[in-house]
Amino acid sequence: MRQALEQAALCEPVPTAFCVGCIIVVRLPDSEPIVLSKGFSRELPGNTHAEANALAKLENLSSSQLQSLVSPWPWEAVPVLGDLLPLVDVYTTLEPCSVRTSGLPACADGLIRARIRRCIIGVREPDDFVKCEGAQKLKDAGIEVIWYGGLEQECLDAARKGHHI
Ligand SMILES: [Zn+2]
Repeated sequence: MRQALEQAALCEPVPTAFCVGCIIVVRLPDSEPIVLSKGFSRELPGNTHAEANALAKLENLSSSQLQSLVSPWPWEAVPVLGDLLPLVDVYTTLEPCSVRTSGLPACADGLIRARIRRCIIGVREPDDFVKCEGAQKLKDAGIEVIWYGGLEQECLDAARKGHHI
């Protein structure tokens, strides 16, 4: 979650959206967690979100980039993203969004479509803009949701950077 907060600190603050950081980690058997991708709000062009950006960057890795990230790989078959995703934990400083007014897909939907295993969340999204039901949406889809605990204030302060509330 500290690494996710470092990503959040890279965001360009805007008054109309939160600053969020996201880290995508895979846990292979008998191995330390491996960071596969990182993302932050508005990192990619447009009003993009941290989770969507981290996922997009992960999906854009070449197979050789992916192989070198997960080396040594414990199984015989070549690693492909589809095999990794069920072992993936996504750390995000703020609850993934459940609706987007901009027309872009909601992050919760993106995580569900990617079929990740667990989502570890720094803090619940406050109702500054919309009522967020991302955590419930993830749970309903069978993704384990873990409230990280202990860094709520840091995650909230990072999210509201540049806001006058
Ligand atoms: Zn989002």
